[in-house]
Amino acid sequence: MKENQYRKPDRYYQAGVVISRALTLILLMLSVLLPWGISPWNTAVAETPQITDLRSGQLETASRLVIETSDPVPVSLLLLVDPHRLVVDFPSSRWRVEDRGASGGLSSPLLKGYRFGSPAPNISRLVIDLDGPAVPEQIFWLPPRNGNHRLVIDLVDRGETAFRVAALALQTNQNMAFSSPPTASYQDDTPGSQVPLPQPRPRPPVTVTDTLTTDNGTANVPPARPSTQTRDEAKWVVFIDPGHGGKDPGAISIHGHKEKDITLKAAKELAKQLEATGQIKVVLSRDRDQFLHLRKRIELARLHQADIFISLHADAAPSSKARGVSVFTLSDTASDKEAELLASRENKADLIGGPDLGVTDPEITPALLGIFQREAMNQSSMFANELMLAFDDLPTLKRGHRFAGFAVLKSPDIPSVLIEMGFLSNSQDESYLVDASYRRKIMQGVTQAVLRFLENNNHNLPNEIAINP
Ligand code: ZN
Repeated sequence: MKENQYRKPDRYYQAGVVISRALTLILLMLSVLLPWGISPWNTAVAETPQITDLRSGQLETASRLVIETSDPVPVSLLLLVDPHRLVVDFPSSRWRVEDRGASGGLSSPLLKGYRFGSPAPNISRLVIDLDGPAVPEQIFWLPPRNGNHRLVIDLVDRGETAFRVAALALQTNQNMAFSSPPTASYQDDTPGSQVPLPQPRPRPPVTVTDTLTTDNGTANVPPARPSTQTRDEAKWVVFIDPGHGGKDPGAISIHGHKEKDITLKAAKELAKQLEATGQIKVVLSRDRDQFLHLRKRIELARLHQADIFISLHADAAPSSKARGVSVFTLSDTASDKEAELLASRENKADLIGGPDLGVTDPEITPALLGIFQREAMNQSSMFANELMLAFDDLPTLKRGHRFAGFAVLKSPDIPSVLIEMGFLSNSQDESYLVDASYRRKIMQGVTQAVLRFLENNNHNLPNEIAINP
């Protein structure tokens, strides 16, 4: 039956015949290079792989797109703006969708509709119209069923900045290989033939400085952010994370001042200043003396679709002479010994609250997580540079932009920094840190840097693509 279907002439068939020999050669070459290994001994190599169907469905946390193909084929992804779209390219394959038009609607909340075509003889292109800045967080192939291979793409709306991070990351990583499901639980694709009903869009967050400090992790899924069209009226979201809290006091000075209290006071000062700009909505990881896992802090920031993540600290150093203000961003290797020690102590502080599942979101395909995170790290560095410039007038020592593996900075799609406002183990720094006017001054610098970074961080993303020649 499959054979007959293939032989049935259609408007794509003729072109398919013309290019099939060339494609056979290309596939032979690709089979050497690509991990799914379309081998020359596989009979499928004689035929151009076909894309046979597509559908969407809604999971609890994501909108799912499923694309059926006759063979596992290479895939590349792009994100476009104005309006938000996902482009899925399949080089070396052709459309063979029997029961659908070349465009139509989709039923998931984040996926509005699709169009497909062939911009060049050997490229099949699918464009998905997105309802908001939804990004692909997972992509994988399911084992074949009834001879069909299924490519699964799960999309989540994490806000405009996460969309930009993902779009830039995908732009520079066009030759990624996506393979098997991330976990065994994905052995079957949920939408299948019975696509579940779309879930209602989540509610917007309640108020400015609304703190989502539930201990049981039942925080609401975030709201849709206003689209770019209404960006002028929309506010940026800055997530402020006062370090430590509750049973984790952080550093304690010889005079008994606790880091957890100083970071909370500084966070409230920063929140006040950012909100006074009228352009920013602030979300605090905690607004009281409360313990929070590092992973929870990241989760909350992502749930609120934060544009920037700022963690505030005032740690201790082995030497009481160590002093000054530093801005840290994430890196595999620390910039210096002291940075390495600080990060490892901070990460261990998480254990005070009992075991945690880990700091990275286990639901993300490592491949996508990796490329998004690299782009987020680039942007974090740009923000760190703005911060150091803005700290120029501070009376204390400027230690500069430094790097270390702080777990709390591992949001895969949010520019994240950790500010060490000073060392509680140094008596001069301690006198600054407990002084409200010093905290006001340092937070004036942070506010200035936040505005400068957000206003300048408008990369030009592509907004046009041809779907047919
Ligand atoms: Zn700390």
